[in-house]
Amino acid sequence: NEVLLSVRDLKKHFTMGKNEILKAVDGISFDIYKGETFGLVGESGCGKSTAGRTMIGLYDRTDGEVVFNGKDVHSLTEKERFHFHKQMQMIFQDPYASLNPRSTVKEIISEPMEVHGLFPNKKERLERIYQLLEDVGLNRDHANRFPHEFSGGQRQRIGIARALALDPDFIIADEPISALDVSVQAQVVNLLKRLQKEKGLTYLFIAHDLSMVKQISNRIGVMYLGHIVELTASNQLYNKPLHPYTQALLSAIPIPDPDVEDQRERIILQGELPSPMDPPSGCVFRTRCQHAMDICAQKKPVWQEIDKDHYVACHLYDEHSEGKDKNEMLVN
Ligand code: SF4
Ligand code: MG
Repeated sequence: NEVLLSVRDLKKHFTMGKNEILKAVDGISFDIYKGETFGLVGESGCGKSTAGRTMIGLYDRTDGEVVFNGKDVHSLTEKERFHFHKQMQMIFQDPYASLNPRSTVKEIISEPMEVHGLFPNKKERLERIYQLLEDVGLNRDHANRFPHEFSGGQRQRIGIARALALDPDFIIADEPISALDVSVQAQVVNLLKRLQKEKGLTYLFIAHDLSMVKQISNRIGVMYLGHIVELTASNQLYNKPLHPYTQALLSAIPIPDPDVEDQRERIILQGELPSPMDPPSGCVFRTRCQHAMDICAQKKPVWQEIDKDHYVACHLYDEHSEGKDKNEMLVN
């Protein structure tokens, strides 16, 4: 597996008011392989959007690093950064808010190409816009219309066409289907899958809903309060979730087949999501964990590989790591 992007102990803290620090992202590490979809899942407020924005350089990092195609995203020169934006694009949750209401679809898709001086010939650029519209399941008749004339699903297609305009390698999709009707969600997921195949794209797919992320992701990282608590292949995560938080998230997903009796135990999360300004000591999940032990308040669980390519941070698995080299466990 060829690594396209690697995140190492990335932190993004925000200083709020009276010297209070919001630890939105507090030390996350993972690799994203070329051509895969990496899902990042967690409740709202867990830091997943901030992680995405920091990875793409929209936010400065507080600590750690993000290496894309061999380059540290946060120490690029201005010229390198400009070029870098061609390779990395973002799709947003609310396509309507991210599309200028006074611009036609043609202008919206054309803009990034103008900024980067691609297809300077007007006729060629127009052909390119028509092609992009067709790529996302729209057509050239849509080019002169305005965003408000489209449905939510169509607007997300316009957002996707714009993200594709610079022919990127990597796309961060931040809850791209959360605002859409259920009937339309699958269509947009299928579109993203098709485009990935056709154009060799790599995705970071951010979502709060595990059932949707499973449809599209090869591997999934589960985030809680600024930390990744578990990471493995999608199927492995669904069949053998190790972290109590992942188990709780999964238990909330209904079994799709009505003929199969759902005998699973519903795990109800206790309490509220703690404030990221005042996270619990030790394991950040301990205030809501039904397995919490004394050690969970005292010691931060280490990130360890339990099965092949299956990582978790939880004291329930501590005996597993006895005898292993400590440094080996800390390497993601
Ligand atoms: Fe629960 Fe402790 Fe594991 Fe945290 S470390 S998830 S509190 S058992
Ligand atoms: Mg978000």
